[in-house]
Amino acid sequence: MPERKDYYGTLGVAKKATDDEIRKAYRRLARKYHPDLNPGDKAAEDKFKTVQEAYDILNEPKKRQMYDQYGFYSDAGVPGGGAPPQGGPGMGFEGFDFSDFINQQGGRRPPPTGGAGDSGGRFSDIFSQFFGGRETAQQQQPEKGADLEYSLNIDFWQSIRGTQVRLSISRQDACTSCNGSGSAGGAVATCGDCNGSGQVSQTAGAMKFNLTCSRCNGSGRLRNVCPACRGEGCTARMDSVEVRLPAGVASGSRLRVAAKGNAGRMGGDAGDLYITVRVEDHAFFKRDGDTIEIKVPITVPEAVLGAKIEVPTIDGRAILKIPQGTQNGQKFRLREKGVASARKETRGDQIVEVFLQAPPANDERTRELLRELAEQYPPDPRSELWTKV
Ligand SMILES: [Zn+2]
Ligand SMILES: [Zn+2]
Repeated sequence: MPERKDYYGTLGVAKKATDDEIRKAYRRLARKYHPDLNPGDKAAEDKFKTVQEAYDILNEPKKRQMYDQYGFYSDAGVPGGGAPPQGGPGMGFEGFDFSDFINQQGGRRPPPTGGAGDSGGRFSDIFSQFFGGRETAQQQQPEKGADLEYSLNIDFWQSIRGTQVRLSISRQDACTSCNGSGSAGGAVATCGDCNGSGQVSQTAGAMKFNLTCSRCNGSGRLRNVCPACRGEGCTARMDSVEVRLPAGVASGSRLRVAAKGNAGRMGGDAGDLYITVRVEDHAFFKRDGDTIEIKVPITVPEAVLGAKIEVPTIDGRAILKIPQGTQNGQKFRLREKGVASARKETRGDQIVEVFLQAPPANDERTRELLRELAEQYPPDPRSELWTKV
């Protein structure tokens, strides 16, 4: 048989107590014996559990009825048959539905946290803080500074030849007044809001919640805040960063400049600076990887008879041999006249695409020659076309 417990006595109410009286008595006792208000007090903890158990039974009509009738309550149900009522007695917080509890209280919001100027979070916030509230404040641990991103535009020739650029960037640097500690030195005072515990209690209905103290961020101590950085340990300042871009740097390249991001906190490493390079288009040279592509016009006689022509390259002029019978749109490769690879010791090629330019026929002599040419070259260039249509 389960041991007999005096739940009414535990809560200090009469056997005929109303639900409301039971609830009030429970709230008063829960507040008094809550473990978070009596840290390390085993007796209070046991008392709290007893109060909790009594309330669990007496607050549930079916459980209270069984207790009244048999003098005990058991999850296993009534001796000699009968299904057990739903739900067991809650011990501690595990069986306790906080949200239901708050709803019973008319959805009351918890009071604001001390000194935070916050009008009180929603219940879920309180709830998560309640369970997460025991971790130590993160601000006291070294933290790596944030990486910074910078977008740098350079022109075509800067990308081909490489360049050196001086950037002005706004970054968080370690405060020079406090060397990044955020503290102005002197004695470290105990936080008055939490009496050094780093936690403050907050009431939500009959429950007390422990929240991380907002004044000291859970450290329990108050520093003399550095006036230069307001305790942040870093200050924003413009910094000049010299960046050398290698010859052949391509659009979209990302360069990392170590330790030129934001300063770390509490002695943490600085973040890095990442520079994304954008290369502006050139009016004539098109770049595809390490290959340079250009389009060059040639005359009909050059195409027909062949020629040596001068074409521009990124190095200057180069000779390109146009073979006899060159057609419109034909492409020629100039080896190693492309971009010096930023990664390898090689150079890309230049591809020259030629297009035929019809000669102007403003004079009779030119027209004569072309008519002669037409007689000399009678086949219809479209004859093959018709066989495919
Ligand atoms: Zn400072
Ligand atoms: Zn505090």
